[in-house]
Amino acid sequence: MSSTKIVLLGAPGAGKGTQAVLLSKNLGVPHISTGDMLRAAVAAETPVGLEAKAVMDAGHLVSDQIVIGIAEERLTQDDAAQGFILDGFPRTLGQAEALDGLLDRIGSGIDCCLAITVDTEGIVERLLKRAELEGRADDNETTIRERMRVYGMETAPLLGYYAARSLVREVPGMGSVDEVSQAMVAALEAA
Ligand code: ADP
Repeated sequence: MSSTKIVLLGAPGAGKGTQAVLLSKNLGVPHISTGDMLRAAVAAETPVGLEAKAVMDAGHLVSDQIVIGIAEERLTQDDAAQGFILDGFPRTLGQAEALDGLLDRIGSGIDCCLAITVDTEGIVERLLKRAELEGRADDNETTIRERMRVYGMETAPLLGYYAARSLVREVPGMGSVDEVSQAMVAALEAA
């Protein structure tokens, strides 16, 4: 499998996090999740965490400036030099452009954008279930719908951004974890 610099796209609850962990093990490249990094910053009450908490709880996006900063810091670590699975970043066109700029400076660009496709109602149900299991502060119905709206406005346009470079491979995300995982590997092998 040749593609190792991978951006995962998909609506909230599409299964990006779960699939990213599996793919990361499979390819031996790090899983980089800005959502996880931000939640860690919130838990540690760092200045970034203190600033991000209310924004995240409301289902809104943390500022490009903060997110680009933490993503750049992580992507310039040694273990990311050969590849990575980006989960939850980029989420805006500004972030996508910043990522391209960074990759231009430190090496080669994105190899593939794997887009996990799901239907909206299926997702709301999934996220409400996750809310019960994990108790994430941003998994209540109002916030979930707000995150979907923000995804449609800010993040969905990235599909066009990467499609213009023929980098997008779509993977249906409503199957079992194993089925989706196999479809992701197949999509990468065909990439
Ligand atoms: P999900 O995939 O369920 O939307 P994430 O774990 O990726 O959730 O992100 C949780 C929250 O963290 C987002 O709703 C947002 O507030 C913040 N966040 C994560 N990544 C970014 C990003 N790249 N840009 C802006 N905000 C982000």
